Amino acid sequence: WFNNVDLAPAIEVFQLTARYREDTDPHKVNLGVGAYRTDEGQPWVLPVVRNVEAMKAADQTLNHEYLPIVGKPDYRKAGVELLLGKASPAVTQNRVDAIQALGGTGALRIGFDFLKNRLGMDVIYISKPTWGNHRGIAKSLGYSKIVEYHYWNEEKMCLNFDGFKADLESAPPKSVIVLHACAHNPTGVDPTHEQWEQLAEIMKRKQLFPLFDCAYQGFATGDLDNDAWPVRRFVELGFEMFAAQSFSKNFGLYNERVGNLIFISSSSSSIPMIRSQMEIIVRTTWSNPPSHGCHIVATVLNNPSLRDEWETNLKTMANRILQMRQLLFDKLKVLGHRWQHVIDQKGMFSYTGLNKQQCDFLVNRKHIYLLGSGRVNMCGLTTKNMDYVAQAIHEALTT
Ligand code: PLP
Repeated sequence: WFNNVDLAPAIEVFQLTARYREDTDPHKVNLGVGAYRTDEGQPWVLPVVRNVEAMKAADQTLNHEYLPIVGKPDYRKAGVELLLGKASPAVTQNRVDAIQALGGTGALRIGFDFLKNRLGMDVIYISKPTWGNHRGIAKSLGYSKIVEYHYWNEEKMCLNFDGFKADLESAPPKSVIVLHACAHNPTGVDPTHEQWEQLAEIMKRKQLFPLFDCAYQGFATGDLDNDAWPVRRFVELGFEMFAAQSFSKNFGLYNERVGNLIFISSSSSSIPMIRSQMEIIVRTTWSNPPSHGCHIVATVLNNPSLRDEWETNLKTMANRILQMRQLLFDKLKVLGHRWQHVIDQKGMFSYTGLNKQQCDFLVNRKHIYLLGSGRVNMCGLTTKNMDYVAQAIHEALTT
């Protein structure tokens, strides 16, 4: 049965990490991985998460019974309120609900599935470039057209807003438009509020369906409300839409698979219908969600002092990234390069503008691991490796 199975192409980011691990050079740096690192280059368990885990370990009332198929109720509600705000018209009018999902990926998966198989949507737009899994998930669900909309102006290293708008103008009605709520992965470039207003106007007029991918709330500006602005604005404008929420990055709960698919309808009466269909999709996909991560998130978000502590932890991460951006800018300036974009870009990633050849030079000659697109994870930089990395980038740019 298995003799003719071909080897699937490697997933670049995981391959890069494997190469990094095997590398014995003392200067090696991993700028590929999509996870937070401390200034010591280590993963970080948020102190608030450690606290809740200790409380959980001591709690004899907890057990390992199945959760409801759609997830833990206080977790789903807290997720909705974090993204939309408690005063959102969708919340006060009971026009929103969430399905607990296996991270942002699981949320995208069940969201794309519902739109394709329950609403018959067949055309999906993703940004060019985007997080690689958007295409993969849409493809595996059989969307007949996966279109890339213009997003990045390579020459000016900024948003290609005219291209973006033109692509939305020409999209057929009922197309799904996947939008990054903030801290766009991989470019780190987000539309301004004014630009979001214009995008919303086109999407309304053209009857396009917004699906916000919200994987970095708190990482773009360090402010949870600010980072949720585009999603909240679309709700205010009366859109029916989906939002795929992930707590992987902002709680550092990567391997616990904590997410929500949030759905907003124009009427409260359709919420139980959508939820019931989602229940069937979940039942046949993973059947039942995991409990550890959602317990932590619900405990934190529903307790004011733990929530304050979490926001402080989140700011620690966001500030370290800002510091690394500034430091890299300063070091490169001394070496004769003006990398304004590294300061302007938001969130965990920077799209450096380094070409494939320059990236290969950094990986193969300098032991600095980054994606071939030139995307770097700013958290891979530390005060200790910054000089080495800046010097290597300088060499890549000048040799
Ligand atoms: N969406 C974007 C844009 C991402 O960058 C990521 C993770 O890197 C995800 C979704 C999925 O996150 P999760 O690990 O929660 O599935």
